[in-house]
Amino acid sequence: MDIRRIAKEAGEEFSIKIKDLTIGNGNFLVIAGPCSVENNEMIIETAGFVKSIGADMLRGGAFKPRTSPYSFQGLKEEGLKMLKEASEKENIPVVSEVMDPRDIEIIYPYIDMFQIGSRNMQNFSLLTEVGKTDKPVMLKRGMAATIEDFLLAAEYIAAEGNDRIVLCERGIRTFESYTRNTLDLAAVPILKKLSKLPVIVDPSHGTGMRDLILPMSLAAMAAGADGLMVEVHPEPACALSDAEQSLSFEEFERLIDKVKETKDFFMDMRKGRA
Ligand code: PEP
Ligand code: MN
Repeated sequence: MDIRRIAKEAGEEFSIKIKDLTIGNGNFLVIAGPCSVENNEMIIETAGFVKSIGADMLRGGAFKPRTSPYSFQGLKEEGLKMLKEASEKENIPVVSEVMDPRDIEIIYPYIDMFQIGSRNMQNFSLLTEVGKTDKPVMLKRGMAATIEDFLLAAEYIAAEGNDRIVLCERGIRTFESYTRNTLDLAAVPILKKLSKLPVIVDPSHGTGMRDLILPMSLAAMAAGADGLMVEVHPEPACALSDAEQSLSFEEFERLIDKVKETKDFFMDMRKGRA
């Protein structure tokens, strides 16, 4: 494998700074928010809640990669304006998806980190173009990507000079159909062994099932993840996308209580690991 720019550096821990936030280097990152930004009220309410519970970043899709062209496609730039307003009001940085290199310029001023989704993990022109920007990129694993494919996709971004990349394991397609995807938690220690980049886990898309978010979040922590990304909605049953996997505020609070309770234990366990 010809991986250089994202290769593990001996000794020093690699981290990514976004304002006051440090991703990696022993900090456990929690990204939370709705699948899609739906309107002003819901994103402001969600931002306020997740921030008050201790989330580090707010998520919210505005350019949505939906399987069907007839499903809700996101509010595009209007949604990003709402996201930024919520971000400023609650003083919480934001991440949102970019699907097309032509949208990078539109999205850039509204976000603190670009998200590249599973379906675009090998959109090489998109990877190359975000690699030319100076903002961090959260790269989600392609649903049919091997670990090597995933690392080489990250290398496309780094090759342009931007190595501020967060890898996100979000499950892969297997023969198992009970869950939406098969969350590959073994990928976490492998990715951390093979690269210097922080690795987070998205148990929401990884399972598609609300009940599995808590156990898979704890399992991700045990596997050595540097953080979690979780979908949270003020009224999950009414969510315009990914209703079945979105947590209510109450469920999110319960999750974060458990994360806080166990975080030090899991972070200590990592010390001395390869
Ligand atoms: C998302 O995070 O909103 C999303 C669409 O996820 P994925 O690309 O992993 O399917
Ligand atoms: Mn979603």
